[in-house]
Amino acid sequence: MDMALYLVRLGEIALKGQNRIYFERKLKENIKHKLRPYRNRFLRQRGRVFIEIDREAPEELIVNALATSFGVVGFSKALRCAKDMEAISNATAQLTSEPQFLTGTKTFKVETVRSDKTFPLESYDISGQLGYEILQTQSHLKVDVHQPDKILYVEIRDHAYLYCSPEKGPGGLPVGTAGRGMLMLSGGIDSPVAAYYMAKRGLKQEAVYFHAYPYTSDEAKEKVLSLARILSPYCSGLLVHVVPFTDIQLHINKMSHEKEHTLLMRACMMRLANMLAIKRDCLAIVTGESLSQVASQTLESLAFTNSMSDLPVFRPLIGMDKGEIIKVSNQIGTYETSILPYDDCCTLFSPKHPLVRPDTAALQTNYAQMNIESLLEKALTQVELFAL
Ligand code: ATP
Ligand code: MG
Repeated sequence: MDMALYLVRLGEIALKGQNRIYFERKLKENIKHKLRPYRNRFLRQRGRVFIEIDREAPEELIVNALATSFGVVGFSKALRCAKDMEAISNATAQLTSEPQFLTGTKTFKVETVRSDKTFPLESYDISGQLGYEILQTQSHLKVDVHQPDKILYVEIRDHAYLYCSPEKGPGGLPVGTAGRGMLMLSGGIDSPVAAYYMAKRGLKQEAVYFHAYPYTSDEAKEKVLSLARILSPYCSGLLVHVVPFTDIQLHINKMSHEKEHTLLMRACMMRLANMLAIKRDCLAIVTGESLSQVASQTLESLAFTNSMSDLPVFRPLIGMDKGEIIKVSNQIGTYETSILPYDDCCTLFSPKHPLVRPDTAALQTNYAQMNIESLLEKALTQVELFAL
């Protein structure tokens, strides 16, 4: 079968000692899953990872698979050919007429490494000859040996290998190498970005969304599911638990003072996320909170919600301002969906004057007095599941 070849560059994984195999195996699993149903094979050579894939596979699918797989820092289309100058020239002509080489390129150079010293030409001569040939066919290009836009790499080893400057991968560590976490996913801008950052450190996540129908519409739920769909390639799949939250919300409103509504609601969400996390073998909670962004994210408010969690709570956006978060949200493609105007229960039920500096012990008492645990248990028996 005719196979296309890609060279994949690994970042932080390459620094791992004995565990490297474990990280590479996970990366391979994640990429293979995205490339199915096309036949593909991973080859490891001298610290390099190559992927061979059926030529029938659309290039867009391959590029998306590599560009969303954490652990990959860069990737290039590559060619392997016989170790003779005619074959190498043909491969050069083929690779340098591809968009990956030509797009935005004004200058280039050829860089050759000749590990096989029996090859009749020296590295410098190979680069010179191929550079000359490229200039003949791509006459708008110029050679710049100091700061070229693109480099064509040629390696003479068991075969000749050719590839050009890499496209950027997302970096980080392969999803699934850092254990499992429960993401609290709302329809806002922040929590999808939080999911992205935790996936980048290798955390496998499931998501929970608290839905207060009919106070929050079905469109609000669909919006969260759309966000999960966009996040799914980065997260290597995302299972979303939609938990009915209306009865809990109404109970809070009935049983507590208005200014405490938001924080008691956040407490219930944190309890539910913990209960679900334990059920699903997750060792951490992930939220999109950022210090002092809103009343429920002041240090005192976070101290209270944190006190409702038995598991570590990861808040990767804690030190980021909204502008920075929006920038990443645009990069990962969630922003346009996040700003659709369907209300979340947080905004719908938020009091005019919420507590800003709550006393943790006092609020814990008020939480206990609501006697809400049985309602939480009940909500968890009515979860809707979506595998995205
Ligand atoms: P976001 O933009 O992520 O919605 P936000 O600025 O609106 O965040 P809050 O509404 O206070 O802030 O929510 C803080 C965090 O709590 C969210 O980032 C998310 O992790 C979680 N959260 C809020 N509402 C929900 C919900 N309905 N379901 C699940 N998690 C939620
Ligand atoms: Mg929100």
